[in-house]
Amino acid sequence: MIKTFVTTYLKKTCNGSNIKRHVTSYQYSTQIRSERSILYKSNKWEAIIGLEVHAQLNSKTKLFSLSSASFNEPVNTNVSVIDAAFPGTLPKLNAKCVELAVAASLALSGNVQLVSSFDRKQYFYPDLPPGYQITQHYAPISLGGKIFLNNLDGLEYDTVVRIKQIQLEQDTGKSIHDIVPGMTLIDLNRAGTGLIEIVTEPDMRTSKEAGLTVKKLQAILRAIGSSDGNMEEGSLRCDVNVSVHEHETPYGTRCEIKNLNSIKFLMAAIDVEIERQIKELENGNKIVQETRGFDVLKNKTFRLRTKETATDYRYMPEPDLSPLILNKDYITRISNNLPELPDDLKTRIMKQYGIPLHDVIVLMNETGGVKYFEKAVKNRNPQHVSNWITHELFGLLHARNIKFSQNPVSALQLGSVVDCVDNGDITGKVGKKILEKMISGDSRLASIIIQDEGLRQLSDINELEKICQDVILQNPEQLRSFKGGKQTVFAWFVGQVMNKTKGQANPKLVNEILRKLL
Ligand code: ADP
Ligand code: MG
Repeated sequence: MIKTFVTTYLKKTCNGSNIKRHVTSYQYSTQIRSERSILYKSNKWEAIIGLEVHAQLNSKTKLFSLSSASFNEPVNTNVSVIDAAFPGTLPKLNAKCVELAVAASLALSGNVQLVSSFDRKQYFYPDLPPGYQITQHYAPISLGGKIFLNNLDGLEYDTVVRIKQIQLEQDTGKSIHDIVPGMTLIDLNRAGTGLIEIVTEPDMRTSKEAGLTVKKLQAILRAIGSSDGNMEEGSLRCDVNVSVHEHETPYGTRCEIKNLNSIKFLMAAIDVEIERQIKELENGNKIVQETRGFDVLKNKTFRLRTKETATDYRYMPEPDLSPLILNKDYITRISNNLPELPDDLKTRIMKQYGIPLHDVIVLMNETGGVKYFEKAVKNRNPQHVSNWITHELFGLLHARNIKFSQNPVSALQLGSVVDCVDNGDITGKVGKKILEKMISGDSRLASIIIQDEGLRQLSDINELEKICQDVILQNPEQLRSFKGGKQTVFAWFVGQVMNKTKGQANPKLVNEILRKLL
């Protein structure tokens, strides 16, 4: 063990790999700069951005103990003697966490390592009972990998962010500062839950690219089920490294901004930090490498502490855990069982159903959205189904503040609405009303609701003619202005008829009849 430690340590520090990495990044930057000339302040400055993303693994139990890793439970109830670091306890690696980490690594095109190992990162903090975090410093579980960025507005954005490494590590407990004034409370429920840390190369140049990188990571982790990737709930947390430099010069000194818990704040923090660093440099000052926080209200980053270096943490190999040895078959099996990844899914849905990219992206933005679409689309017009989901259903849910995960309308019910509209039983307007009923908890199919409530479309010409005639007679003023040449009044008449029939009149027939009568 000691021997491996020393060799890895020497490899990391003494053969200049840091310098090499720097040069590679710099060359990479020059190479892609022509494609992405994103420059600040009269083309003088360029920003360099790298991310460290922590994603909580979707495992029932913690990384090294059998206590539950679930949230929203009373404080300090999911804490075993291992999580609380009682003397004499020993960690035992959770196989599920390894599997989820391997799946994430493969989905991100990382090279899963057949041998990796655990290390202690030592620092004192009350929410870290052992006084060290078990992480993978010298030999992480995966090296390399890529994240392809896509624009969310549908336009392709073919930038690649390289991944440096992915490591398995344990989370800390939570320090709660704002409940009892002057005191910090400690909740150890989270202590010891499994995380992966995904470290990117400094390949991003703007806050937008950083935001897109996190979005894409989120989508991939969710698709394979490795993590919920929910930033608001803390299951995905980002630290971002930002530096600025003058063009054609080596990279500048970076500052790390910690604990950004939404993409919006991540992007805002990057923007103000770039501005701050440019200002410092233009005033002739030097950037000091440090760890900073982001004050959301003031929209400013602020100094937390000077940057710790690796030696500050006194990294040492974890003596209580043997190296993690994986065999090739195990990795192949996980690789073969990976579900469809977001980019493949996107292409397939567009091709298979002939709906536009924008629709697919809207569907993909809701967890389970595509699955729902595929269930509802069976034997139906894909574009109609997509419209009913992405416009009507999502719109109504949004207006009622209901998350898609809480959507009460089954795919079968939604499909029944599309059927009834498409075969002319009801108008689109009535379809929307029925959908509203379903959202309010009506679990009947559209055909049943129509039957029970007499909502069938009015297509009886005589009946419609009579209603149209009435409407015209009752509104002589509008009739006069229409005859006087005001064409827009026509639509007003159509609207009146639709209102009178509670939206049940066949709009096409109403149009025809009114044209004739007017
Ligand atoms: P450390 O070992 O000090 O944590 P790393 O080389 O692992 O440093 O880099 C940590 C993060 O900082 C990575 O996300 C990387 O992309 C980013 N980074 C490295 N150099 C720069 C730079 N000059 N500007 C901005 N970010 C950088
Ligand atoms: Mg680091």
